[in-house]
Amino acid sequence: MPETLRPSRIIPDVVFARDGKQTGYLRLFHSTHDSAYGFLPIPIVVVQHGEGPTALFTSGNHGDEYEGQVALTNLAQWLEPDMIQGRVILLPMANYPAALVGRRVSPIDDLNLNRIFPGDPDGTVTRQIAHFIDSVLIPLADLVIDLHSGGSSLNYIPCALARQSADPALYRKQLAALRAFGAPYTYIQGGAQGQGGDQTLGSGADRRGSIALGTELGGSGTVNSAGLAIAERGLRNLLVHLGILPREHWREPPATRFLDVRGQDYYLYAPENGVFEPLVGLGDTVVVGQPAARIHTPETPWRAPVELAFNAAGIVMCQRIPARTKRGDCLFHLASDLLVD
Ligand code: CA
Repeated sequence: MPETLRPSRIIPDVVFARDGKQTGYLRLFHSTHDSAYGFLPIPIVVVQHGEGPTALFTSGNHGDEYEGQVALTNLAQWLEPDMIQGRVILLPMANYPAALVGRRVSPIDDLNLNRIFPGDPDGTVTRQIAHFIDSVLIPLADLVIDLHSGGSSLNYIPCALARQSADPALYRKQLAALRAFGAPYTYIQGGAQGQGGDQTLGSGADRRGSIALGTELGGSGTVNSAGLAIAERGLRNLLVHLGILPREHWREPPATRFLDVRGQDYYLYAPENGVFEPLVGLGDTVVVGQPAARIHTPETPWRAPVELAFNAAGIVMCQRIPARTKRGDCLFHLASDLLVD
């Protein structure tokens, strides 16, 4: 049987075609020493009123990224069926076991939910979650936004993003939706770059013909209040943009600055183990060859630090947080202006 035809083992408390506001859990049965017949309760909210488009909003894909989890929790309490036309599905703790302990990857199988799409209905718990999102939730959705931040190890200028769809019509819809979301910065990812490639939730949504969007709302393992405010306005604007919420809920956003992450040159990695001293900050504009960081080695304090320079020009979008670093860690990534019509 082809993978996509094998059914999920996850049992939802909610019914996806029913008017009203339903709250409950996706029951992922997980038999352990402590809980022989137990399930992992992945929270879900479905708000529906009549015919119309469907929006799927997800967060907690990485469990140590919190702005999206707060924005969707607030939305779950605010949104009522009589306000909308269509359907909104909220999945605030997509990788529930990871989100429960505030970690990027699952404490059960050590998997990163955003690197295993389209998942596997017979796989470990994280693979089963990916498969349920890919094969059950995404096919219902006209638009999917997966709300991320930098997590514990990275911090971002709050921004929205999309991986450019290979379908030109879908790409135009991505751009229109990103303008409605209205983050101050929006970056477009081109081809495969090693940062998730075609195994992300967003790639799964794009493969199934949904308008696939994402965010990086902050990071450092905390709640960035500016990023949260951008998400709260942006999510309501997306619902207005789709015709799910009426125009009265529109909040005019600033024009977004479209940026491009063109390739591996835009990422700067640690070449040595040591202590990372940043020489620039988030939002700085840098040029090729500009000093970016020093890596100090207090293990051998008689050695001079390794000084790193940028390989590309652009705006510093993302910066590593912990000072201790090891060879291969991403220290910065840049983005440069993109002309979009
Ligand atoms: Ca993330």
